[in-house]
Amino acid sequence: MRRLLTLCVFALLSCSSSDTPAATDSETFSLPPGSIVDLSYSYGDDTVYWPTADKFEKTVDAEGYTAGGYYYLSNTVRTSEHGGTHLDAPIHFSEGQLTTDEIPLENLMGSAVLIDVSEPAASDPDYLISVSDFENWEARHGRIPDAAIVLLRTGYGQYWPNAELYLGTAERGADAVPLLHFPGIDPDAASWLVENRSINAIGLDTASIDRGQSSTYETHQILFAANIPAFENVANLERLPETGFVVIALPMKIAGGSGGPLRIAAIIPESGG
Ligand SMILES: [Zn+2]
Repeated sequence: MRRLLTLCVFALLSCSSSDTPAATDSETFSLPPGSIVDLSYSYGDDTVYWPTADKFEKTVDAEGYTAGGYYYLSNTVRTSEHGGTHLDAPIHFSEGQLTTDEIPLENLMGSAVLIDVSEPAASDPDYLISVSDFENWEARHGRIPDAAIVLLRTGYGQYWPNAELYLGTAERGADAVPLLHFPGIDPDAASWLVENRSINAIGLDTASIDRGQSSTYETHQILFAANIPAFENVANLERLPETGFVVIALPMKIAGGSGGPLRIAAIIPESGG
């Protein structure tokens, strides 16, 4: 009996020691060779917010050398969930749908595509990204893959952080909302995506997935009813290829949140683009 126990213990030890190489593999995990593109703007005094939302605030709680002789800096920040580069969680416009902390991380990381509508949007600040924009992309690259993160480049990122150019108005408050002019996604295109494709998330380089002149925010309603989260005010989209890259989008994990500040980056493999 004692001998049997010894054998069992030995078996367990040898089993765990044979697991060691796997653990070592995970410790040495590295990203594939390629370039990393930061798709987030910094939060600061110039960060663009919706006209009705308070601007970003940062107050210094402590800065300088302490009695202990070491340097110490600490700030307090205050922000709407919906300013700067941020996530819209599905519950933002769809009761009962996913909150910020409930969105599976699998849906926020993965293969991505870029659809560039900057040419038609350049001459039309009320441009609606249409089904034909998606079909034209697919004619060149094939069907938008299942589980893709879809990024839309309107070109309005070039105006950040000039609110007059980026939003169509630098005025603040509720009276400024009807003055907003920037491109967004046609509700018909949102329906087409929900009904005919199976994407994980969508993002763009304007302040809203609905165009500035929308007053009913139907694109938000349609996509969020299908639990597809959105990324707004995404930066540096002109640095991405149309296909062959990966996106990692990690929002602040706000319990019950309707959105939140978002750190988003793309990885373009050396062979990609
Ligand atoms: Zn938002």
